[in-house]
Amino acid sequence: MDYDFDLFVIGAGSGGVRAARFAAGFGARVAIAESRYLGGTCVNVGCVPKKLLVYGAHFSEDFEQASGFGWSLGEANFSWPTLIANKNREIHRLNGIYRNLLVNSGVTLLEGHARLLDPNSVEVAGQRCTARNILIATGGWPQIPDIPGRELAISSNEAFFLEQLPKRVLVVGGGYIAVEFASIFQGLGARTSLLYRRELFLRGFDDAVRVHLRDELSKKGMDLQFNADIARIDKQPDGSLLATLKDGRHLETDCVFYATGRRPMLDNLGLENTGVELDERGFIKVSDLFQTSEPSILALGDVIGRVQLTPVALAEGMAVARRLFKPEEYRPVDYDGIPTAVFSLPNIGTVGLTEQQARARGHKVRIFESRFRPMKLTLTENQERTLMKLVVDAESDRVLGCHMVGPEAGEIIQGLAVALKAGATKRIFDETIGVHPTAAEEFVTLR
Ligand code: FAD
Ligand code: NDP
Repeated sequence: MDYDFDLFVIGAGSGGVRAARFAAGFGARVAIAESRYLGGTCVNVGCVPKKLLVYGAHFSEDFEQASGFGWSLGEANFSWPTLIANKNREIHRLNGIYRNLLVNSGVTLLEGHARLLDPNSVEVAGQRCTARNILIATGGWPQIPDIPGRELAISSNEAFFLEQLPKRVLVVGGGYIAVEFASIFQGLGARTSLLYRRELFLRGFDDAVRVHLRDELSKKGMDLQFNADIARIDKQPDGSLLATLKDGRHLETDCVFYATGRRPMLDNLGLENTGVELDERGFIKVSDLFQTSEPSILALGDVIGRVQLTPVALAEGMAVARRLFKPEEYRPVDYDGIPTAVFSLPNIGTVGLTEQQARARGHKVRIFESRFRPMKLTLTENQERTLMKLVVDAESDRVLGCHMVGPEAGEIIQGLAVALKAGATKRIFDETIGVHPTAAEEFVTLR
């Protein structure tokens, strides 16, 4: 049978664009459909605008610290509408870059919602296309628990477009987005509370990191409420919101922001017209080769719910393009030792095993830890401290995990991820000469 395309990609986000571009570069006839925004979550309502807001939020600390270095500044004023307008302009520019990337690599771009009609055909804006392979890369969507007053709450999707910075914000959740946005709101001057349903946020991160960040956020005046959850939200006559907690307490706020995880985006996708199956969590079930239960259909990225990070979706997109159209260059995605950062203020950077994971896997571990006040703060009143921690296998001397809370932790952890991938031992860390004076050198002087 002759198909219109060799590959039809649904969703022009991180993973979809990568797969489409490279497949076209390998000579395949490729189409991509996008219903909302080119570049997907990361570019439009994720990594990129989030990081811009984090930069914006850090200025309040920078201004405070400047006086220690002899600077005197006038009264600082912040304009949220200016930050959002500038952010929107930058995102618009990036959307254009994505369009050019696709068009210049020969991919047919179809703008509109794509729906599967059968295992080899898709409908986009009334147009039917057939393809030998279809790749589902539709990403995820914020998930807000079904409580009374849920419609009064916002998610990260709306936070990026608020007209004004709320005076008071209640952030619900204890994952990446909750912690990052709580830092953004706090840094920009909103009175910020973070509510998390268990004892301590960032479940899955090293315990030392979780405790350290908790203490640093508290020092900055953030109101952290653990073992707390909202039962209902009501609007008050003056327009403010009243959150009633499950323990009966009431909290008044101007904005309730939910960051309680993301579901796979499968809305009106037409999966019922195919044999694609979902796993027990509702994500698309795939094999190691990103093959769904329908032989002609593949899936990758957030919609398969493995590791919801942009560089992972990119690696999966690359693997799919190569396997289908350049099999001699195919290499499986290596999910071991994925470094990651939480862009809270201060940042977390982490790669490899936590101390708790290493012990649970039966490693005898040696732990090296350092807590110190970064040099930049020594001329200021700021009492923030940095944490660095290495988890080392006592028998082989291999470094199993590196963890940091402190300025630029995300930048520092990337290089350490290379060392871990190469199987570096603690001895190799010790033999590496430091770069002085930096915070990063601490990772090679831990004894
Ligand atoms: P997406 O990028 O979500 O792309 C899916 C695309 O498919 C979307 O454009 C969508 O509109 C489109 N689509 C959906 N259904 C259809 C349909 N039926 N027809 C046509 N098009 C459709 N990751 C990091 O690594 N670092 C970070 O700092 C980071 N920060 C984040 C901050 C926030 C607030 C959020 C929400 C996420 C963040 N992430 C971060 C995660 C990262 O954005 C995702 O892991 C990544 O975007 C997943 O890529 P994807 O290709 O799977 O899907
Ligand atoms: P996460 O899965 O990271 O965290 C969800 C949080 O919400 C958890 O603390 C969870 O608690 C809590 N939660 C879940 N359901 C409920 C509920 N019904 N009531 C109360 N609390 C609830 O999701 P996020 O939304 O923060 O982010 C989604 C993903 O996007 C991340 O996992 C990450 O992969 C990616 N991302 C990456 C970033 C980065 O790289 N810097 C930044 C932002 C997002 P519990 O611990 O009890 O399960």
